[in-house]
Amino acid sequence: MAGHSFDFDVIVVGAGVMGSCTAHAAASRGARALLLERFDLLHHLGSSHGESRTIRDAYPKAQYPPMVRLARRLWADAEAESGYSVLTPVPQLSMGPRTNASLVAAIRSSGAEEVDLAQRWGGAFRPPKDGWVTAVSEHGGGVLNATKAVAMFQALAVKKGAVVRDKTEVVGIKKGPEGGVVVTTSTGEEFRGAKCVVAVGAWTSKLVRSVAGGLELPIQPLHTMVLYWRIKPGREGELTAESGFPTFSSYGDPHVYSTPSLEMPGLIKINYDGGPRCDPDCRDWASGGGDVAEVVARWIDEFMPDHVETAGGPVSRQSCMYSMTPDKDFVIDFLGGEFGNDVVVGAGFSGHGFKMGPAVGGILAEMAIYGEARTAAEAGVELGHFRINRFEGNPLGNAKN
Ligand SMILES: Cc1cc2nc3c(=O)[nH]c(=O)nc-3n(C[C@H](O)[C@H](O)[C@H](O)COP(=O)(O)OP(=O)(O)OC[C@H]3O[C@@H](n4cnc5c(N)ncnc54)[C@H](O)[C@@H]3O)c2cc1C
Repeated sequence: MAGHSFDFDVIVVGAGVMGSCTAHAAASRGARALLLERFDLLHHLGSSHGESRTIRDAYPKAQYPPMVRLARRLWADAEAESGYSVLTPVPQLSMGPRTNASLVAAIRSSGAEEVDLAQRWGGAFRPPKDGWVTAVSEHGGGVLNATKAVAMFQALAVKKGAVVRDKTEVVGIKKGPEGGVVVTTSTGEEFRGAKCVVAVGAWTSKLVRSVAGGLELPIQPLHTMVLYWRIKPGREGELTAESGFPTFSSYGDPHVYSTPSLEMPGLIKINYDGGPRCDPDCRDWASGGGDVAEVVARWIDEFMPDHVETAGGPVSRQSCMYSMTPDKDFVIDFLGGEFGNDVVVGAGFSGHGFKMGPAVGGILAEMAIYGEARTAAEAGVELGHFRINRFEGNPLGNAKN
């Protein structure tokens, strides 16, 4: 693709799930790819670490199911190519007040069928008798082993010829003298690339602001918590992935989600979907998650009191970050301005991007290499929802393109 004056065809900044998948997708398409990560590979300071992420096809917004279907295909391809197993299929349960429009749309989009929870999972759930809907998508759910999945894509990227460097912080991206971009690191190293993909998660607003003349992307980092709760004695076997217990989303206030007992026997992950604002470079590790554990405990006491123990709080807590956009939709676009189509941004995954990683990586790589996301277009993925210019007029940002 690019002229020979460039060190690389595609330089990817950030080795979370999105950057790692992008580097793999670029190298798979014959591009000379460089993946740069500020911290150690597989570190716990961003958004892609841990043992589990939900994959589900129940989505309220129409733009996501085609992307999930494409991602599922690519997860399977990567598993086959690497020999790793990272996805455990389970059913997906969506539940909440029947009046919740997002829930109703998600059920419709996935073809989930209403079920009697008592018949299906014994007394594990205690939903309200009236006004509540509970629907299961039999083949739509699953649990992804997050850190292992990122490692898988990094290994595959290297196998395809990508260069991966960690402990390398990018501090500058400039237009190159002969076109393309020059990427500068905090130690003064420079890499010349035909194209650059920025996939720096919660650091996106900061990096884009500094490289793109003050352009403000309204991507707000949130401090979230991964919470593991003890399953009550004798109930452990009932809530396992192996026994067919589902991933679930409980809509309404609070929005709570869960993956079945899998990575830590005897414990189940039940989280709150959100958290307080944070600065990714200055986090309060002790209490940064706010009162989310109490919020989740109250939910458990109401809806799963016979199966999950809340006394003493969660057994294990891990900090993580969401990168929230005002509409919770992703940012997948060319940076524009003086960079035109030479810099592509993939960001703002708003707490639901992991499952889409391989699809997003393919999109970002193809936008960088070909100027358009061909595979996604063939799969019916509509990228118009993810443009930067949708933020124009938003009080949080003055993004332009
Ligand atoms: C608790 C929690 C639960 C979640 N659950 C789900 C779920 O069930 N299902 C789902 O689909 N999604 C889920 N998500 C969301 C999903 O994990 C994220 O959308 C996804 O991991 C975002 O990946 P990323 O690559 O954009 O960001 P990150 O993983 O943060 O990667 C960005 C990388 O860029 C690096 N970087 C930053 N600045 C620089 C720089 N200047 N130079 C070089 N490198 C840099 C960072 O160190 C980091 O490694 C969850 C997220 C959290 C936090």
